Amino acid sequence: MLNFFPNPYPDEDFGSIVYRFFKLSGTPYMIDIMYKLLQVKTIRNRFILPKNLLILLNNIPGKHSYSLDSIVKEHSYLPLMKPFYTDKEYHNILKDIGMTKGRIVVGSDQLRHMISNQVRYCPLCLLEDYQKFGESYVHRIHQYKFVQVCPNHHTYLISSCPECQQPFVYYNRRLLGIPYCSNKHYLPSFAQHTVYTGALEKLIHQVADDTSFFIQNEKKIYIELIRQRYLDYALKKGYISPNGLMKKNKSLKQDFLGFFSVENLEVLGITINQIHRKFAQIYLNLQGNHYNILIHILLMIYFSGSVSNFLNQKMTDTEPFIPFGRGPWECLNELCSKYKQKSIVVCQRYCFRDVIYGTFQCENCGYTFTKKCNRETLQNMDGIYVKDKGWLWEMKEEEVYKLYKEKIQLAQKLNKRNRIQDKKIEIPERNSFAWISLLFQVYSNVKSYKETARILRTTEITVKNILIRHQIKITQLNKSESVKNIV
Ligand SMILES: [Zn+2]
Ligand SMILES: [Zn+2]
Ligand SMILES: [Zn+2]
Repeated sequence: MLNFFPNPYPDEDFGSIVYRFFKLSGTPYMIDIMYKLLQVKTIRNRFILPKNLLILLNNIPGKHSYSLDSIVKEHSYLPLMKPFYTDKEYHNILKDIGMTKGRIVVGSDQLRHMISNQVRYCPLCLLEDYQKFGESYVHRIHQYKFVQVCPNHHTYLISSCPECQQPFVYYNRRLLGIPYCSNKHYLPSFAQHTVYTGALEKLIHQVADDTSFFIQNEKKIYIELIRQRYLDYALKKGYISPNGLMKKNKSLKQDFLGFFSVENLEVLGITINQIHRKFAQIYLNLQGNHYNILIHILLMIYFSGSVSNFLNQKMTDTEPFIPFGRGPWECLNELCSKYKQKSIVVCQRYCFRDVIYGTFQCENCGYTFTKKCNRETLQNMDGIYVKDKGWLWEMKEEEVYKLYKEKIQLAQKLNKRNRIQDKKIEIPERNSFAWISLLFQVYSNVKSYKETARILRTTEITVKNILIRHQIKITQLNKSESVKNIV
């Protein structure tokens, strides 16, 4: 148990809280403090994405306001990333932050390149915090590399004393508790206000404001909302045609570079090769490596002036112009716990001749199917093609097959026709799970492909295929087992 742990200040960076503890503890080395609090052996990386926080939380004495949730939400860098992760990804990261075995894999690299190497301060926040709380501290919002001005004071941030160039870092007791550098230079006197004349200055300010907006609204912003908005805007601005494909004659890449200018993007830390040929597809679909959050912020500014406009502006309904609509779509697997629930969020569309194909896959069960619509009218066409019944279905079908396995194998060997059952059986819908189950049952009774096909009103070849598929699986299993036995 610790003797004490300092209370946090508003928007204080987690590292700054640990640093204040370090100074008060009298321990000579920061690294020892890190080990004592979190059982980690690095400093900077663990400030950017902490780990083993539960160890710390269990050791803070007395009543306090800390929780895993509050540290992550109010003092870590993660809230800016959160809207761009799926629930599952985010949950894994949270688990890591609480307690880690080994190396943190997800999230750490994506955050690292967004956070400034030197600690940055707003000269006026230094003064204001000192007057209000009796000491100055590190603000989280100022540490994102692309935030170059304080969203509260509209002043440029500093990462070293403008007079003596002494840098601000976590090592060697170089963080500031007072608004003076260690050579006693009064830092608020260096506050340089933005004047918003040029396009660049306006942009720098907008990016700082929008970053702040993201952090404050992380709860209300989620990946599906962003995906939907991108689709709406891309349609409205004509980057996507109503058939759901990228338009060839309009290039988001070119327009984006023209809107911001390559020089201004460089000031914000974006290099031209980050705006590559596929950037529109990756960022608008939020698929693949789309984790440069500044690019998202800029896209939103490009589309509607600011992040809050982008997310809040009511669009005229574009739904009728999107093939298969904008989802989510129902899972069609009767065995899935999400059956007929709108659980599918991604639709992959492609076009061939006059038809647009949409492929839908349920994450819950793996069931994958394709629908078609007319390219001109976007009217859905009849028929659903099941590409893959998914792992859940396969597993259950295998279970049923096993019940009849021996009888079926025997029947296949003899292939001797039995007398038809007299009982009238009701035949379920073809290819439904009940239908396939019945097929196993009927075949093991009548012992003939032909007879089974007749009773189930399908073709001999279908019956054969279904049975042989399971046969192959079993032979494969037996083979690998016998190999094991030899070894
Ligand atoms: Zn400030
Ligand atoms: Zn100085
Ligand atoms: Zn499903």
